Amino acid sequence: MPARQKITIYDTTLRDGTQGTGISFSVQDKLRVAERLDEFGIHYIEGGWPGSNPKDVAFFEAVAKKSWRQAKIAAFGMTRRGGMKVEEDAQVRQLLVAETSVVTVVGKTWPLHVREVFGVSLEENLAMIRDTVAYLKANGREVFYDAEHFFDSYREDEEYTLATIRAASDAGASLVILCDTNGGSLPGLVGAATAKAATAIGAPVGTHTHDDSGLGVANALAAVEAGAIQVQGTVNGYGERVGNCNLTTLVPLLQLKLGLPLVADLGRLTELSRFVDELANVPQSIRAPFVGRAAFTHKGGLHVHAVQKLARSYEHVDPSLVGNERVVTISDLSGQSNILMKAEAMGFPIAKGSPEVAKVLQEVKRLEHEGYEFESAEASFELLLRRLLGNHRPLFELEEYHCEFVRAGKAGSDWNKCVAAVKLRIQDELVHREGSGDGPVNALDAALRAALEPSYPVVASVRLDDYKVRIINGRLGTAARTRVFILSTDGRAQWGTVGVSDNIIEASWQALVDSYDYAALQAGRES
Ligand SMILES: [Zn+2]
Repeated sequence: MPARQKITIYDTTLRDGTQGTGISFSVQDKLRVAERLDEFGIHYIEGGWPGSNPKDVAFFEAVAKKSWRQAKIAAFGMTRRGGMKVEEDAQVRQLLVAETSVVTVVGKTWPLHVREVFGVSLEENLAMIRDTVAYLKANGREVFYDAEHFFDSYREDEEYTLATIRAASDAGASLVILCDTNGGSLPGLVGAATAKAATAIGAPVGTHTHDDSGLGVANALAAVEAGAIQVQGTVNGYGERVGNCNLTTLVPLLQLKLGLPLVADLGRLTELSRFVDELANVPQSIRAPFVGRAAFTHKGGLHVHAVQKLARSYEHVDPSLVGNERVVTISDLSGQSNILMKAEAMGFPIAKGSPEVAKVLQEVKRLEHEGYEFESAEASFELLLRRLLGNHRPLFELEEYHCEFVRAGKAGSDWNKCVAAVKLRIQDELVHREGSGDGPVNALDAALRAALEPSYPVVASVRLDDYKVRIINGRLGTAARTRVFILSTDGRAQWGTVGVSDNIIEASWQALVDSYDYAALQAGRES
């Protein structure tokens, strides 16, 4: 690659990203995201479209009062409407009201859109681009010009397509950004057209791609390799339809693989990704490159063995470079390397090839055969290890539990109730408690808590965060079984436990007991 200008990152999570299905931010959320993006080192933050909704107007008002480390905030809008003077276009005037140093305007490139959507002549469209860019520039703004549908248009009418970006550039746009708005272009074309566009206007261009073909990042990369100096995209790839170019993937690629210095501390990438997901209230994608929880998770026994010896053998980059971490999961593929690593992490190292390892391995495989899964039930796995290695004292011995569901009258109309009773031996004392609840598991949980709390006060602080039931097919082709997975928290830590049985109540009981057992273990058996 020839010597080039520094590449800048332009984030549009708060504008294009919010067009994504299920993505919505309050004004406060938008400010918090913008702060994080600024801290992370993003150069430009597109905050919204002040002409389109009051929320964005409020956002820009708040933005103007804040100071930013390095990010420039951009307002986004469209070229003036056809057949009117630019200074009379309210939408364009709103862009000045936002008082940002940068304004990004999108304009039509594709003759199909100019004629069919705008209903104006090709000449008038060029005038709309020229007028709008020149007007904003004359009002002291740095103007970026987004060439909508650039690549679709380029395929059909190269001459007119280049004429539109020349209009923007000649009118004073400091950067022209080529957009793959429909996300259907291939990297080969994007690279070639990007080089051609830069030559046509005599200046480097930027890239804005969508991910409809799964190529948002690949196309941005092709554009950069062809000389583009600005990459536009969103955190976690939020955006219309399937989303925009995912900056969470693109930025580490540019920085780690192409050696282009973009941000000072890429190690905060994973944190940024999860923060934005949390604010948008969307589940994290576990398989997201670089930042997903599975991105550096090793499951196969052979891989684990190799990773332990030499991390590079099964990892394309060091997870710490992007702030992620290596996870080794327990699975039916696991060999003794997994067990050894887990045991060591838990503070009781066992020797490779020792009878203990074989014993644990055999038991894990047996349980997995029955339907247990320990990948997200780390607490149950730790307890299993402790039981097998002989240094675990259970919370109690079960004498009996009992559960009853009564419904009177017709379904839905009359009362129903669940009651449960437990009889446990806790430190040689026989404890008998009852509980009630909306459902049988609820009732059983209430009785169990009542019995345990006097001896293990920590139980009172445990809350169930999630309760998942899965019907699984017996691996021997026998009857279906139930697997219950419980996620618990004490407000600080979170832990997962698992239970499996033919009976949903018994499966739930196992997971509940493990959860309290683990809580007491963490609290150092406060009895
Ligand atoms: Zn877009």
